[in-house]
Amino acid sequence: MSQEILVLGAGMVGVSTALALRHRGHHVVLVDRAAPGTETSYGNAGFIQREAVQPYAFPRDWKTILRVIARRGNDVHYHPGAMLRLLPVLARYWRESAPDRYAGTIAAYAALVRHCVSEHEQWIAAAGAEDLVSKAGWLEAYRSQRAFDDTVRTATMVAREHALDCAVLDGAALQAAEPVLHGGLAGAIHWRDPWTVSDPGELVQRYAALFERQGGIVRRGDAATLQPDGSGWRVMTDAGPLSAAQAVIALGPWASTLTRTLGYRLPLFIKRGYHRHYASARMPSLPLLDAERGFVLAPMRRGLRLTTGAEFAHHDAPPTPVQLAAAERYASDLVDLGAPVEAQPWMGARPCVADMRPVVGRAPRHRGLWFHFGHAHQGFTLGPATARLLAELIDGETPYVDPRPYDPARFG
Ligand SMILES: Cc1cc2nc3c(=O)[nH]c(=O)nc-3n(C[C@H](O)[C@H](O)[C@H](O)COP(=O)(O)OP(=O)(O)OC[C@H]3O[C@@H](n4cnc5c(N)ncnc54)[C@H](O)[C@@H]3O)c2cc1C
Repeated sequence: MSQEILVLGAGMVGVSTALALRHRGHHVVLVDRAAPGTETSYGNAGFIQREAVQPYAFPRDWKTILRVIARRGNDVHYHPGAMLRLLPVLARYWRESAPDRYAGTIAAYAALVRHCVSEHEQWIAAAGAEDLVSKAGWLEAYRSQRAFDDTVRTATMVAREHALDCAVLDGAALQAAEPVLHGGLAGAIHWRDPWTVSDPGELVQRYAALFERQGGIVRRGDAATLQPDGSGWRVMTDAGPLSAAQAVIALGPWASTLTRTLGYRLPLFIKRGYHRHYASARMPSLPLLDAERGFVLAPMRRGLRLTTGAEFAHHDAPPTPVQLAAAERYASDLVDLGAPVEAQPWMGARPCVADMRPVVGRAPRHRGLWFHFGHAHQGFTLGPATARLLAELIDGETPYVDPRPYDPARFG
């Protein structure tokens, strides 16, 4: 039976939810305070990460932890003032990263990630967005021979275990594949299953346009106004109040504010990240992660996009793009970057959960309310895959992947 459903948040996760529900015949209104795909889902590196079967865990070895605390290395940065408040959730993140628990999370995560490319594929075709997508994979590059050799061992093992396609390129093979590189890299793993997108925000906008063509409605409105309304929900929009039997919270890094107001204490936190484009005259053909310096170089429509690793800070604290400044220097070792395109870097926030699993399913204590957020480093990848899972749950069907690892009720 078709229902009226409000979807709050129009990033990759919310737009995919709206599409999946509309496709099933529901009357869906997608509500956001901004245009679709203009926040986190705009600013990422554009990877549809079929190889990401292992979510980012909290380091368990003291050498790495001490390196991060001492702020040596460019992959992680933090604001000391934010750490006290973050301590409980980070302690839980650390516990959930213990080998036995992490193994269970990998199994659950891999079961979802397996579907990420095929779930995107149908929407990319229907949205006419093939021009934005490359199917050639990406490069995980290393500067030191030792780190490269270690990764070759683990990557080939992961690839075998999860039936992933990867090629090992030594320094010479990498240079031959990407002649614009200045040289000096020990080698790279070429992950060949993932797809990459040259304008992530535009892909979300094309999905949103497809949703509208299929009869869905997009409205500007404030999710903070969500209120129970009889047996359903009501939200204020530019077009006045809108009511529906069901509502989905898909607010990415802002989900914690509304869920807290509704009385939920979920172990959510954010990892901020930055990007900037450069007018490089000669871009590498494939996106490249400099694994030892913690940044990605992604050839995009606006230029060569340099994205950074994780910054632990208050969501609203002023930007401190020190990782980007360092990445800019390191990236210049690898390529001719060219002049920055924007005057200031972009900043966004990855919506994270302490157990590294997105929150997908029925809100435990509210009728007709659904949660869909917490996709951390892989929300652009997983949006359509978890949207299908949520749509199947809303329709009371047997879901295509086991929903229990993602059930909001796991937090009580
Ligand atoms: C630097 C960086 C690189 C990344 N690279 C990748 C990558 O290569 N691949 C990948 O898979 N993931 C990547 N990610 C992660 C990915 O971008 C996120 O997981 C994903 O975009 C989250 O999508 P979302 O729809 O949940 O959130 P968002 O895209 O942030 O959408 C949330 C929406 O909620 C809206 N909203 C918030 N508050 C309100 C309100 N009160 N009322 C109405 N609307 C509201 C916002 O306007 C926004 O549109 C990266 C992230 C960063 C920061």
